Amino acid sequence: MSANIPTEAPKPFEPLHGECTCGNIKYEVVAPPVGKPCLCHCNNCKRQTGSMFTSNVIVLRETLNITGKYKVWSRGDDGKGWSSLFCPECGTPICSFRDDRPDKAVVRIGTLDSRDLVRLEKPVLEMFCARKIGWPADVEGAAQFEEWPTRDDLSQVDGSASIT
Ligand SMILES: [Zn+2]
Ligand SMILES: [Zn+2]
Repeated sequence: MSANIPTEAPKPFEPLHGECTCGNIKYEVVAPPVGKPCLCHCNNCKRQTGSMFTSNVIVLRETLNITGKYKVWSRGDDGKGWSSLFCPECGTPICSFRDDRPDKAVVRIGTLDSRDLVRLEKPVLEMFCARKIGWPADVEGAAQFEEWPTRDDLSQVDGSASIT
């Protein structure tokens, strides 16, 4: 006799919402991100955001709905092209793409509404730590990588996602 254990239907994912500083761009992420947040300390991320590192989460591009006029700026980086999507009015960086992986987007999570930002877990990894400024403490429990983590590296980090 099989016990009929009532199971709660999994709750549908509540979309994440974000916007640029001036409100021209609004976006939503309608499915769970493919990995947990990560921090990047590379020089491009510093310059692009005017901050000391970026905080990011990788999502499938098809789950990212963007409204409002945006601009895309592209650069080649170590043989891999990267494009950044930003607001042409206020300059807020929203996300970036690797040109050979247009199916994924790296969302700058500081642009999320605060109530949605706190729904994300804390970062599971930090990359380009070789460029890290001295004083910010390592995120407790987060894997630290000098540069790009390899796929092998990532397979050791629970909840991480690869952009490649
Ligand atoms: Zn804006
Ligand atoms: Zn970076």
